[in-house]
Parts: sequence; C-alpha cells; structure tokens
Amino acid sequence: MRILVTGGAGYVGSVTVERLLAAGHAVWVLDDVSTGHAAAVPREATLTVASYTDEDRVTRLLVDNSIEAILHCAARSLVGESIREPSIYYRANVVGGVALLEAARRAGVGRIVFSSTAAVYGIPATTPITEAAPLDPINPYGETKRTFEVAMRWYGAAYGLRSISLRYFNVAGASERNGEDHDPETHLIPTILGAAASGQPMALFGDDYPTPDGTPIRDYIHVEDLANAHELALAATGVPLEPGTPPAVSLNLGTGTGFSVRDVIGAAEAAVGRPIPYSTGPRRAGDPPILVASAERARELLGWTPRRGSLAEMIGSAWRWRQAHPGGYGETR
Ligand code: UDP
Repeated sequence: MRILVTGGAGYVGSVTVERLLAAGHAVWVLDDVSTGHAAAVPREATLTVASYTDEDRVTRLLVDNSIEAILHCAARSLVGESIREPSIYYRANVVGGVALLEAARRAGVGRIVFSSTAAVYGIPATTPITEAAPLDPINPYGETKRTFEVAMRWYGAAYGLRSISLRYFNVAGASERNGEDHDPETHLIPTILGAAASGQPMALFGDDYPTPDGTPIRDYIHVEDLANAHELALAATGVPLEPGTPPAVSLNLGTGTGFSVRDVIGAAEAAVGRPIPYSTGPRRAGDPPILVASAERARELLGWTPRRGSLAEMIGSAWRWRQAHPGGYGETR
C-alpha cells in the first residue's frame, strides 16, 4: 500500500514507519519537525518537511504520489500546554485536522487511521475502560482529539471515509532505531531514566491516590506493539468495517494491565541496576488515579495482541535506546 504518515518523524510515528516499511509498504512522511526529528525517519521513506494543515500542499502530495491511505499521527500533545493555550490545540488538532480531511477528500483518499488518546475519556467511572465509556475529556488536548474522531465519523457517514481512531494508553519503550526524545520531557519512563542517568532526583507526583501503593496506575503499551496495531488498522480500513454502522470505529490500545508509578520505578531500578533518585511531591493537576484499557475490541476487530507487555521489556528497550543516543537525535538525517 502507498501510505502517507503525518507526524512520521515523531516517537510513535517513526516506529510505525519502520514497521510499515518492513511489511513492504511504500511510505511518505509529512512532518514539520517542530517536535519530531528528521533523523528518526528511515531513508527508505520519503520525507516532506511541511505541515499537514496546508490543504493545497497536502492535496498535491496525495495526488502526485497516488496515496491510498493516511496515518495521521501529527498533533500537539501536551496536556498542560493545552490548558494554557487551547488556541494552539484547536488550530492544530481540529482546524488543521479538518484541512487534512479536506485534502484527502479532494484527492480521493478514503482511508485514514488516527492517533487518538485515552484522554478522550477524562476521569472514567469504571475500570477497565471500554470504548463504550462516556467521552468526557478534562483538557483541550483530549477534547480536540475527541472532536476530530467525531468529525471523521460524520465524514464517514456523508462521504464514505473509512477511519479507525486508535486511543493510546501510555506508550513506552523503543525500537532498535527509534525512541523517545521530547523537549520538554513530561512522560514518566523517560523522566525516570533521565534521573537514573543524571543522578538528579525526579518528582513523583503524589502518593495519596486511592490505589494500593498510593501512586497512580497506568496501562503501559510497548511502542512496537502500537506500531503493529497501526499496520493492522491500516489494512482494516480497506474493507467495510462493521456492517450497518458508519464506517468509523474507535479502539483502545493498551495491554489491560495496570502498573503504579512505584511499580515503574522498581522495574526501572532493576533494568538500570541502581536506585532511581526521586522525591515525592504534590499531585499533578488533572491526573486520574487509574487508567487501564479494555483492549478486547482491538483484539476482535484487528486480531491484535500485544507481545511486549512486560515493564522489563518496555523500560529495558527505552534504556538501551537512551544509552545508544545519549544526546537524543542529532540534527542530521
Ligand atoms: N509521573 C510522575 N512524575 C513524572 C511524570 C509522571 O510521578 O515526572 C506520573 C504521573 O503523575 C502519572 C504517571 O506518572 O500518574 C504517568 O504519567 P505520564 O505523563 O507518563 O502519562 P499520562 O498518564 O499523564 O498520560
């Protein structure tokens, strides 16, 4: 298949590009490298440094290269920033996203897989979370992802767009080639590994949650398992998804197992072979106590099974990548 990956220079996007290339697909990457890294894009993929929000340019890219399906990973994705600057999130994730849908419509591309998030659920009432849980995001990041999911559903009903939204839980780990290099880094596992490397203590955001050890519980999923799910989802958009329903579905991607922040610190200590320095501070605003996926629907619809679900594999691969790339990505490709 001929596939355009927006955000293919980012963490999830780049590992997925590797996977798509390995499966024999032809891949074009569209990324403005504002948060991604050109060096993360394998040479076998064609990289265009531009924004997915440029409707005319994207239309030409799609037509000129006879693209058959789009994987839309590009987005703004920092929760705290989204609360301070909702304007950026609505412009990029909603207005820009619709420009991409319009480009697809003009170019006759009718298949799209979208990077969504567990943040669409807000603070869920029950666990594990199924896709039937109410969507009640508590920040503009989750809200703009929800809005785009719904836009794709209506485009499906009216124009026949076939879409799959993949609601990621906590993505972790690295491939041999690509890993996590964010600035600023806010995620737990790279922050822990940063503390291990520098000896500077990291902050544990609250130990007074209603969980067994008092720290929040999350469902961590290996980025290579996630990449595999994207490949399956892209294939699944080639056929009508569910008879009698609009051709749009949303699927959780997690392992269904929860680990606390303390569990993760303990697994990281085992992986790096020394204690992780940390200090316990106050809660971070907007952190739900427990987020664990039911991933049954993805199993049923895509035949997807996560294979690298242990913390040891996720943290071990992230640590190996970090040691091989002590400064993250260089500037060159
Ligand atoms: N966390 C922490 N210290 C950090 C970063 C994260 O204690 O420096 C905790 C955070 O409160 C949450 C969990 O680790 O409970 C996972 O946070 P992350 O930002 O990785 O993902 P989120 O679940 O917020 O999407």
